[in-house]
Amino acid sequence: MKSLPYFCRGEVVRGFGRGSKELGIPTANFPDSVVEHLPADVNTGIYYGWACVGHGDVHKMVMSIGWNPYYKNSKKSMETHVIHTFKEDFYGEVLSVVMVGYIRPERSFDSLDALISAINSDIEEAKLKLDQPEFLKLKTDNFFSSSSHSPSAATTAENSIINGH
Ligand code: ADP
Ligand code: MG
Repeated sequence: MKSLPYFCRGEVVRGFGRGSKELGIPTANFPDSVVEHLPADVNTGIYYGWACVGHGDVHKMVMSIGWNPYYKNSKKSMETHVIHTFKEDFYGEVLSVVMVGYIRPERSFDSLDALISAINSDIEEAKLKLDQPEFLKLKTDNFFSSSSHSPSAATTAENSIINGH
């Protein structure tokens, strides 16, 4: 995928309440404005990369890009599971991410257990891949230390500059 690594940030909004947290795998949702700016070659499926909440530490993440059932599957959604245990929810905070690689396409599962074990193996794959030097270096990218971590600064113009260099 030509567009990777792909940098973006946006305010964390409420998702569909599908109970990801109850499964032990909460997923922070981006607003439509962030999803709409995804390049066309970024397909649906599972990605891995780095993420940071507000000005916090940079952690490994897995992200699912899929079709949003609330909009009759006509709009994509981006849901990030940060591989870190947070003390509190962070709705309303700015989530900054860089997607660096693709794991697999979306698929449906016969059971909840099968879904959970697939996600856990995605997480293990992400952890291993991100330790490779070419991906590890993105953890310290200036993107994560830049000052524009307010929701209003998370604009298209900024995204296009970040991803255009
Ligand atoms: P929703 O349907 O609102 O997205 P989830 O059950 O998926 O609900 O929970 C997502 C929320 O959980 C995030 O918006 C965030 O505030 C919180 N959260 C806590 N820990 C994490 C984590 N490690 N990764 C992602 N979100 C987390
Ligand atoms: Mg969610």
